[in-house]
Amino acid sequence: MLALGDGDLAAMAGGCLTISLDALRANYRLIAARVAPARAAAVVKADGYGLGALRVAPALAAEGCRAFFVAHLSEAIAVKPSLPPDASLFVLNGLTPGSEPACIAVGATPVLNSYDQALRWQQAAAAAGTPLAAVVQVDSGMSRLGMSLAEAGALAGDAEFRAAVPVVLLMSHLACADTPDNPANEAQRNRFAAAAALFPGVPLSLANSGGSFLPAGFHLALVRPGVSLYGGAPNNAAPNPMRPVVALDARVIQIRTIPPGAGVGYGLTFTADRETRIATIAAGYADGLPRALGNRGAAYYNGVRLPIAGRVSMDSITLDVTALPPDTLQPGALVELIGPHQSLDQLAADAGTISYEILTSLGHRYHRIYRDSEPSAASGAA
Ligand SMILES: *Cc1c(COP(=O)(O)O)cnc(C)c1O
Repeated sequence: MLALGDGDLAAMAGGCLTISLDALRANYRLIAARVAPARAAAVVKADGYGLGALRVAPALAAEGCRAFFVAHLSEAIAVKPSLPPDASLFVLNGLTPGSEPACIAVGATPVLNSYDQALRWQQAAAAAGTPLAAVVQVDSGMSRLGMSLAEAGALAGDAEFRAAVPVVLLMSHLACADTPDNPANEAQRNRFAAAAALFPGVPLSLANSGGSFLPAGFHLALVRPGVSLYGGAPNNAAPNPMRPVVALDARVIQIRTIPPGAGVGYGLTFTADRETRIATIAAGYADGLPRALGNRGAAYYNGVRLPIAGRVSMDSITLDVTALPPDTLQPGALVELIGPHQSLDQLAADAGTISYEILTSLGHRYHRIYRDSEPSAASGAA
């Protein structure tokens, strides 16, 4: 078998994804300090927003995080071994019928989003012969997940349900937290307060990243940031206060000079209007660089903007590098896609999307480097 060292792997890869667990930790500390005395959980669904839940979760645990949210039970099963034994693990999407025993086995706590889910969890508790904790989610206005106030009220007043299912958290989710001035935020907070009155003494959670940067009245017992931990802006009202966690550099495969009139890429949607130097880099839409970046986005080299020329292909992108002095860029060099000159949020904006979609699409073809100056006991080898 061929034995390849880390350097070989780095040189072969089409690009390099550098993930700073130090910045991730700093972002957690910033939010935790901002919302105190509320506590900060961490949302690590979708493999820690694409950055590797098994690396991200232990780093956050080392900062004192003890509540983790995933979307699916399968994610809970994957993440659980990386968490400290005293951490709570919540399944946001709740449980599909029949998955209750698996949830009990992994020791995760479901978010009960419907009356039906609540009854099934109550039955699971009866079958197990032991009370089973749960989170109850009410819909405070987003109409996505969660039960109505009437359903929550029925459960709240059901002594058998309450005995079988200790409600450890009552939660809801904000639809417009990234726009702090939106009156929908206050409306949702008021509806959530009405639900909270049905469950006196139960801890409350309403805020995601955006909500963590709303006034303290939104923080309640527990905030649930996701994207801001990973460096995404919590809202679009102020400069991003988070430290960048991700840097992305892609490798130049070849450079050639094309004459005026030559077309570039599928559909020949770019035409050189002068002698143009085109560099092809080894990352494309299969690596999470949206096709919408074609003829719109850019990469950077030595701080010089290199516009994307033509369409984004599956495995490559063509850049107009004419702005660089000849011979500056050589095959094998790395150009910046996310870094000091182009933020995650800027790349997302150029693609007409949001940081969340960029992060969760990055894929597994890049060479990944995790930077962590204080490795936590649980984080294991790279
Ligand atoms: C994904 C999610 C979060 C985290 O949201 P961010 O905007 O990434 O901070 C919090 N709560 C719920 C219910 C979610 O689905």
